[in-house]
Amino acid sequence: MEFTRELPEKIPVQERIRHYKEFIQNYSEEKLNQQASRCMNCGTPFCHSGCPLGNVIPEFNDAVFRGDWKEAYEILSSTNNFPEFTGRICPAPCEAACVLGINQPPVTIEEIEKHIIEIAFEKKFVVPRKPNMRTGKKVGVIGSGPAGLAAAAQLNAAGHTVTVFERDDQAGGLLRYGIPDFKLEKRVIDRRIQLMEEEGIVFKYNANVGVNVNINDLLREFHAIVLAGGSTVPRDLKIPGRELKGVHFAMHYLKQQNKRNSGIAATLSINSEEIESNMFPEDILAAGKNVVVIGGGDTGSDCVGTANRHSAQSVTQFELLPKPPDSRTPFMPWPTYPMTFKSSSSHEEGADRKWAIATKEFIGDGNGNLRGLKIVDLEWKITEDGKPASFVERPGSEREIPCELALLAMGFVHPQYEGLLNELGVELDEKGNIKASEINYHTNINKVFAAGDMRRGQSLVVWAISEGRECARKIDEFLMGYSFLESRDESLRITG
Ligand SMILES: Cc1cc2nc3c(=O)[nH]c(=O)nc-3n(C[C@H](O)[C@H](O)[C@H](O)COP(=O)(O)OP(=O)(O)OC[C@H]3O[C@@H](n4cnc5c(N)ncnc54)[C@H](O)[C@@H]3O)c2cc1C
Ligand code: SF4
Repeated sequence: MEFTRELPEKIPVQERIRHYKEFIQNYSEEKLNQQASRCMNCGTPFCHSGCPLGNVIPEFNDAVFRGDWKEAYEILSSTNNFPEFTGRICPAPCEAACVLGINQPPVTIEEIEKHIIEIAFEKKFVVPRKPNMRTGKKVGVIGSGPAGLAAAAQLNAAGHTVTVFERDDQAGGLLRYGIPDFKLEKRVIDRRIQLMEEEGIVFKYNANVGVNVNINDLLREFHAIVLAGGSTVPRDLKIPGRELKGVHFAMHYLKQQNKRNSGIAATLSINSEEIESNMFPEDILAAGKNVVVIGGGDTGSDCVGTANRHSAQSVTQFELLPKPPDSRTPFMPWPTYPMTFKSSSSHEEGADRKWAIATKEFIGDGNGNLRGLKIVDLEWKITEDGKPASFVERPGSEREIPCELALLAMGFVHPQYEGLLNELGVELDEKGNIKASEINYHTNINKVFAAGDMRRGQSLVVWAISEGRECARKIDEFLMGYSFLESRDESLRITG
């Protein structure tokens, strides 16, 4: 009742687009206390179920309010292995479910989470926790994204000996190569990986299972295997002119910039999938170009932020769907996650956002280079419950716009099959992801489990961590017959 929602200050746009560093500042101690005090400690805290990890939010808010950082950290880390990631980049479905959100702006849960973990690091509460005993069981984790890392951390905590195989040159999956540094500085990943190594987890890099590491050798060596390779095949836009120089997948553009920021040659690729498809033939730079990002989601927004940092001449972002409503409609009631209009910090930095647009052709300059796009406006038919159902092109709206760099950010269709998955003969679900139920995360192959985007399809970091944790518990039960690992299932929780 006394304080309203306030987010920490951001470094002004003109200053922050000159670098790739994070730009969201910290709360003062007083502000942090005030924001934590907005939590009402509801009898039925809907934020718990809004968070895919089941984070115990009112309890950690209360500990922050009382200034008990150790307790706040203990509560937070009991359900989330990596709050330093989610505290920076989670879209915070918990906040959409916050009870205060019924008639007030919700509690700043994500920011409070980030402050708890950063203060815990500062105060040296975060130390390597080695298991008291080893079980003698060995688990191989394929993929070091948030799902693989969470599974590895939990399995190691249960006493199993864990090796993580990663085809890239460093750990983190899309946290490392995908999400821009200005949203998540890579030192944050390095700090966590060092802790995990000190806890006894072994990381093997440039280890592409199914290519230069034989999966049958791993099946012989390990008592269980986790497939956590992500959903990496991007959705393409196969229209005339797709072959032109200047049309690229968003991920190639973003990954190159991540590499540049880490001092690694952007065009250097050690990932065999990329070498085979000649994905990195050139430096993809936006400087001085009219950039069009095709796809209105988070990946597209990351391209907008990166293109502005490259000093693009103009940045436009297209979305096929119509513009969403500004606030909840009767079809998206609290506490569901609302599909309303949202602007990211990258949009604040400048972008011409357009909805209900289809791209019909990439137009060349006669020398194989992209010089423009042929686009058309769409008229959408909306269903009674407010969902876009079908569209027709608006007559007479077809036109050409200048564009020298087009970035395809239209999502990912499924995991890569060549190599690992084909060799294993693993069963797929109707969407083309790995088939493994949420009940046991077990695939059709004995002792092979799956978690994260590879199993649930393209999703969020918080879901990947949740899947990694739940999968680890099922593997622990599979190996030992029981498990004391935490679970999202509250009936299995052992904290009290
Ligand atoms: C550009 C972009 C921005 C995003 N921004 C956000 C955001 O802001 N917030 C959010 O919550 N989510 C975001 N996401 C989604 C989020 O990053 C993913 O949902 C999450 O990383 C999935 O985790 P994962 O562990 O399942 O897979 P990934 O993170 O994809 O990791 C898979 C890892 O497995 C490795 N691998 C694959 N096959 C093999 C093999 N055969 N052998 C060895 N290693 C292998 C890959 O190299 C990779 O490192 C974003 C996604 C993208 C693409
Ligand atoms: S992990 Fe995401 S959903 Fe869960 S409490 Fe943190 S910000 Fe909210």
